[in-house]
Amino acid sequence: MSTVLVTGGAGFLGSHLCDRLLADGHDVICVDNFFSGRKQNIRHLIGDSRFEVIRHDIVYPLVVEADWIYNLACPASPVAYQYNPIKTIKTSTVGMVNVLGLAKRCRARILHTSTSEVYGDPEVHPQREDYWGNVNPLGPRSCYDEGKRVAESLCMNYHQAHGVDVRVVRIFNTYGPRMHPNDGRVVSNFLMQALRGDDLTIYGDGSQTRSFCYVSDLIEGLVRMMNQDKDIGPVNLGNPVENTMLELASEVLKVTGSTSQLKKVPLPQDDPRQRCPDITKAGNLLQWEPQVALSEGLAKTAAYYRETEFSAKA
Ligand code: NAD
Ligand code: UDP
Ligand code: UDP
Repeated sequence: MSTVLVTGGAGFLGSHLCDRLLADGHDVICVDNFFSGRKQNIRHLIGDSRFEVIRHDIVYPLVVEADWIYNLACPASPVAYQYNPIKTIKTSTVGMVNVLGLAKRCRARILHTSTSEVYGDPEVHPQREDYWGNVNPLGPRSCYDEGKRVAESLCMNYHQAHGVDVRVVRIFNTYGPRMHPNDGRVVSNFLMQALRGDDLTIYGDGSQTRSFCYVSDLIEGLVRMMNQDKDIGPVNLGNPVENTMLELASEVLKVTGSTSQLKKVPLPQDDPRQRCPDITKAGNLLQWEPQVALSEGLAKTAAYYRETEFSAKA
């Protein structure tokens, strides 16, 4: 049993991670500034004597005692991270220094959640961890991509200079219950549009690809990465099954039984054409691979939105 600090713990992934860590018997300190996270994601944990919430922004120093740290604080959807790009960069740079400084002082192991976005619009497919990426440093996504690249660099620098026990994972598109219904990511957009009977917004011609991992699979990968001593990473975590956005739209219509139509709208600037993880390293190191099929995960997420956004008590 340990005390685990989860930054970004009120967010989509962070709140599921808090659930898992408490179930595993740990004490959990959740730190969040509630920019893109929601109190309702952690409301069920309030009152648990092993759970504590601190409203705090990691861009400012934080002093708490922890044995392990999972650093998830950072808005993840393009709409959220482009809302205040300077703040997004500060979170991944100044915030990362603070969390690494805390890890150094506490001699805590720290797992940092990086992203497939470090590969940018990749010229190598699928993406392996040794690919350096193709990122536009000046484009609208750069506050997120370049911030996350600096954060990885900082993890390696603190490891080499100060012996901080880091772990780095690169997460590919992950979805599931507690994704903010209005966060602008494709799975939440399509599901909410389908459930409302609105047109599904296909950006561009819909032939671009992504690989969608269900949240429970991803959380299992995070915990396995934290619990092993062999490799500090980076390690890709994601589902290697690749889908076009048109395929995703059709799966969403099938799962929800919706009769919504598709509407083509302009493709945002620098939208990556394709993205699919090579998860050989995660397989060898963590004996990890996703278990939940897209149709099953979409059905669970649709059920969550029906319950929280469309039922009488919502
Ligand atoms: P999310 O937006 O739901 O969660 C991020 C949380 O961090 C939110 O609760 C937000 O309020 C909090 N936060 C943001 N800036 C903060 C700051 N300065 N100080 C304190 N808290 C702050 O997103 P998510 O999908 O749960 O993503 C969690 C992490 O995983 C992020 O770091 C993201 O970059 C990474 N990631 C997620 C995905 C994905 O598909 N979900 C893919 C790649 C990487
Ligand atoms: N820091 C923090 N909490 C701690 C320890 C450090 O927020 O428990 C911050 C600290 O304010 C500093 C940063 O982490 O700005 C980096 O710490 P480090 O020890 O690496 O650097 P230094 O303090 O020597 O600049
Ligand atoms: N997308 C779409 N319709 C939407 C939202 C997104 O077609 O309503 C597309 C978007 O252009 C991108 C893909 O879906 O190609 C994934 O977008 P998301 O914002 O979820 O994640 P990211 O681009 O960061 O992988």
